[in-house]
Amino acid sequence: GLFDVADASEDLEPRPPVVTIMGHVDHGKTSLLDAIRHANVVAGEAGGITQHIGAYQVTAPSGAKITFIDTPGHAAFTAMRARGAKVTDVVVLVVAADDGVMPQTVEAIQHAKAAKVPLIVAINKIDKPDAKPERVRTELLQHEVQVETFGGETLEVEVSAKQKTNLDKLLDVIGLQSEILELKANPNRPAEGTVIEAKLDRGRGPVATVLVQRGTLKVGDIVVAGAEWGRVRALVSDTGKTIDTAGPSVPVEVLGFNGTPEAGDRLAVVENESRAREVTDYRARQKREKQAARASGMRGSLEQMMSQLKTSGQKEFPLVIKGDVQGSIEAIVGALEKLGTDEVAARVLLSGVGGITESDVTLAEASNAAIIGFNVRAHKEAREAAERLGIEIRYYNIIYDLVDDVKKAMSGLLAPTTRETMLGNASILQVFNITKVGKVAGCRVTDGVVQRGANVRLIRDNVVIHEGKLGQLKHLKDDVREVTSGHECGMSFENYQDIRVGDVIECYRLETVQRSL
Ligand code: GDP
Repeated sequence: GLFDVADASEDLEPRPPVVTIMGHVDHGKTSLLDAIRHANVVAGEAGGITQHIGAYQVTAPSGAKITFIDTPGHAAFTAMRARGAKVTDVVVLVVAADDGVMPQTVEAIQHAKAAKVPLIVAINKIDKPDAKPERVRTELLQHEVQVETFGGETLEVEVSAKQKTNLDKLLDVIGLQSEILELKANPNRPAEGTVIEAKLDRGRGPVATVLVQRGTLKVGDIVVAGAEWGRVRALVSDTGKTIDTAGPSVPVEVLGFNGTPEAGDRLAVVENESRAREVTDYRARQKREKQAARASGMRGSLEQMMSQLKTSGQKEFPLVIKGDVQGSIEAIVGALEKLGTDEVAARVLLSGVGGITESDVTLAEASNAAIIGFNVRAHKEAREAAERLGIEIRYYNIIYDLVDDVKKAMSGLLAPTTRETMLGNASILQVFNITKVGKVAGCRVTDGVVQRGANVRLIRDNVVIHEGKLGQLKHLKDDVREVTSGHECGMSFENYQDIRVGDVIECYRLETVQRSL
């Protein structure tokens, strides 16, 4: 698969945190992102501040590098998560000290929690005379965010984006939080990442800003992202510099795509162009099918699918599917539904957001199901129960691989089919009646070969009158393994006596072959 190989722990190296800024409208998200950026760009740097690529990297006073996603707000954050991309390591929640916790503040808290991404609270606009940071802390408590000053674990900083107060402190706090998270990646492998934004540039063609998440992206690499692919022609940094490589947590503009991918698409380096074509063709087809299904209003609910399975009596492949977000679960179930044939189909017993629990394992055991974790893991008790009961738990982070594996497994449920291989023909010249043996045909092999134990068909006047197995095969008085064209032989047939001079015997072998979906 494309994203399957886990890195060995000795290959992992620390990587910078990736930060998204969220908060209520007008609380200062954009101002804060701009202020951090200005304060950290070395004067006179190529491209300088004018460059905007959707993400940028700065260096904290502690020396730690930090990557900021330059599109504030939880809409982009959630849209990316819905597409299965986990980009953000830390959320900075901006709350204006003069306004306090507002509806979008609460939403941001919920989104960060759902994604299990730690929060850092930035109490902004402390320069204002009516700033009440204490009130902000109290209001946050009502939403289960307990900041340090209140004895909690959530890190916090009072800032002013306008006066550039405590920006360094905020960066150091982010650095501290990322140390706690022990963020690591293997830089020495083909790159994987996520498209942050993409556009069609009149001069440069398709341009995708990619956040590299594992490995190192290089000029000349063949990349796929969503349904698009290309050979990397150039890499441009967040400060507008042309660079040769981009490692983990580095945002970079990628030039060379044949089409424009979408924000949230996962990027991977593949070994060659034909693999790139294969992957993107498949995805383009999936995309078209999905659009067609949506257009015709046939989004086939899970309930429908299950009731269909019950009535049709087809073979079922039972599954329990847990994932990180509803969007990816829907995509997975949709793709699995498409795999089904009249004969065999996936049966999703349960699908839901969250880690794999002991009760999921119990359900799987009761139904002989396999458990699939998409970007989630099993709780300790669940893992132990699964081991004890011999239930298989499989983890994926890319839908393509998941569906491919289920497809292979389902193919195993298909009844094997038989394939006929013609051996040869013989015609009956004489019929002998032999005591204890019964009727024996004296034949000549007219073409091919006749073999002991083969399947035979008796044909009289072009009509098949018997199908069965060869009993004995003799040449002169001896049992033989085979008789070839032009030679004479004696044959008897298992459980069949009605043979006549002139009958034709077709001789063939049957092989069992496993079909696949
Ligand atoms: P966003 O909607 O969260 O991105 O908020 P903006 O960054 O657009 O800021 C909204 C308004 O608040 C603008 O008028 C900013 O100038 C102002 N603002 C942002 N940060 C500060 C600050 O620290 N102090 C003061 N006094 N005003 C600020």
